Parts: sequence; C-alpha cells; structure tokens
Amino acid sequence: MTEQTKVQQDALQPQCPNCGANLTYDPTTGKLLCDHCNSTVGVEQDFFVEERSFEELRHLPTWKSNSICTYRCQNCGAVTTVDKATLATTCPFCNSPVVMEENLPSILQPNVVVPFELSQKDASAVLAKWRKGKLYAPRNFRKSTKEQNVKGVFVPCWTFDAVTSSPYSGKVGQRRTRTVRRNGKTYTQTYIHWYHVSGVMDMSFDDMMIQGNNHIPQNYFNQMGPFPQSKYVVYDQKFLAGFVAEHYSLQPLDAYGKAVTTMKTTIKNAIMRRHNADVEGSLQVNFKVLDKSFKYLMLPVYVANTKYRNKLYSQYVSGIFTNKEKLQAKVCGKSPVSPWKVLLTVVGIAVAVFAGLWLFNDGVFDGQLNLLEQIAKGFLH
Ligand SMILES: [Zn+2]
Ligand SMILES: [Zn+2]
Repeated sequence: MTEQTKVQQDALQPQCPNCGANLTYDPTTGKLLCDHCNSTVGVEQDFFVEERSFEELRHLPTWKSNSICTYRCQNCGAVTTVDKATLATTCPFCNSPVVMEENLPSILQPNVVVPFELSQKDASAVLAKWRKGKLYAPRNFRKSTKEQNVKGVFVPCWTFDAVTSSPYSGKVGQRRTRTVRRNGKTYTQTYIHWYHVSGVMDMSFDDMMIQGNNHIPQNYFNQMGPFPQSKYVVYDQKFLAGFVAEHYSLQPLDAYGKAVTTMKTTIKNAIMRRHNADVEGSLQVNFKVLDKSFKYLMLPVYVANTKYRNKLYSQYVSGIFTNKEKLQAKVCGKSPVSPWKVLLTVVGIAVAVFAGLWLFNDGVFDGQLNLLEQIAKGFLH
C-alpha cells in the first residue's frame, strides 16, 4: 500500500438525533434536515466575522491540488479517494453528504461562508425562466431543467482589505485645444499641457474579491456578485452538508498580488483625477500599504451543464436571492444556438421584406428582385 491510500481525512457527517440517518443543510429553512424522517436540527449563524492577519501566511507551504487523499464514509464504511482540494462531497456509494474535517495543515481553512438561500428547486425554477428567454436556443434546452442537473457548489474566494498611503510625483499632462491662424486661415490644434504634480494619495480598500480557483470564468463569477457582507457567516462545516465544495488552488499570496494590481490602477486613476490630468507622463507612484488583512470565503453557486452537438454549455445561478418573494436570483452562462432557428428567422425576414416590397412598392419590385437574384447568385458562387 502506498502512502496515499492511507485514510488521512476524517469525514464529518452530521446524523439525525431521531433516526440516525444523514442530515443535509436545507436552504429553505436554514436548518439541517433529515431526508429519512424529516426531523430538523437548527444551525447557529454567527455573524461576527473576523479579518485574518497576513502573519498566518508567512510559513504556509504551497500545496498541489492534484494530490489525493482518502476518507472513510461513516454511513456505509466505503473508503473513497478524492482530490486533496475536496472540502465537501457526497459518498459515491450511499450518497451521504461528506464534509472533510480540518486536518490538513498545509491548507488554510475558510473562515467565512455565505449559506445557500435558494434550494435546488428554487435554482432550477430561476434557470428555467432564464432558458425560456433564450429564443434562439434549441427547443430541448429551453424546455428542460431537470432539478437534479442543477448542482449546488461552494466557490472558494479570497477577499482583501488594505489601507494604503502612496506618495507620488512626476509630470502629468492635459489634452487641450487652441486655435491658430496660418496664412489667413484658422486651425484647431490639439496639444498636451504638461505640469508637475506631487502629493500623497490615501486610499482604503474593502473586500476586494479574487476567486480561489478558475472553475467559473471570471466574468461570470463577477456577474454572480456582489455577495453582501450582511450574508457573511462564520464558517461552519454544517452549511456545506449536501453540497460540493473545493479548496482554493490559487495560493493566497498570488491572489493578493492580483488585488495589488487592481489597487495600483485605482490609485493612479485617483491621482490623475485629482489633478485633472489625462496623460500619465512620468508619474511615479510609491505604492505603500499601511495595513492589510484577508478572509477566505465559501460562496454559494448553482451550476448546470448542457451538452449540445458535443459541446458543453454551463450556466450559473447565484445561491442567494436578489428578491426572495419574487424568486429572483442572478443567472448567467452560455446557451447553445440552434442553426435552424437562425436560418428560419433570416428566411422569415427575407420573406417579410419581399412581401412588403411586392405589396407597397410595385414600381421598383423588378429592380429589387434583380438585386435579390444577384445576392443569391453571390451566395451560390
Ligand atoms: Zn431522521
Ligand atoms: Zn457511504
């Protein structure tokens, strides 16, 4: 037996106090629910979320997400191998929810979770409405949203707070215009007016979000947000029971590097605005961070995949409501396009134009017909 096949992880599987069956987190009630006898167990939500110090990251070893570990299911006893990045999953043999215990010292544990508000049923209803609106998608795609095809996933995410104070100096420019007379004629000329600036730009940044892996394309991830801070709850594994969750693969300091790039751009833009400048010139900014902290979050997203003509199309539904009464949540993603529907529309428009010309414009009809003929010939050649 190799080192890797040793049981390294303990699986946390909350059990029903009434019948001993497994409990899963139920977004509708915010409680743990037994799918066997319908008993519920309350989960306490602690909203006192703390910032974490960068000291924690100083001796943190980097880890490879492709290494594996095993766990033993407490329900059926099966020993299963999973990627080390797995934080929550379901047992492939008995379908019990499994959340890993915190015993991997090389991986940081999340300190914040945004619990799911939409149930799987809610999410598929929201998605069904979105798909129906995709008029050029094939019929099957618009009609089918099987509930079990919509999966609740926690997305790992870093957030950074920073207080910055950056001295700067250098030449900046402003684009101006002037009127000049030459040989008795007036011209408008654009030129850059250069001037020297210096000062200190103080700026604070709050909760800059960087996705902890790249499983959801960044533009879609941005569309899922923002996840309001009022929904942040102190991390508790119970919120993950029944969902899939994965640890970060983007290391915290690399994620911070991404946040710094954004901060630097924001600071530079603010300096330019302060001095009404629009050309950067030789501006030097000495980016200085006075204080910084981070959080490691688990964010709720539903993912659905559809295969169409051998291509996979993914859609995402935010796990939190934008309007609970109206059952509204953010949705985005790719939908397939039916070539037949596009063709029918093009033909339909052509027929409408053709009919319109025939009815209202008898005189030029022949001319238009010739034109259409020529276009058609062009296509055929
Ligand atoms: Zn029970
Ligand atoms: Zn099992």
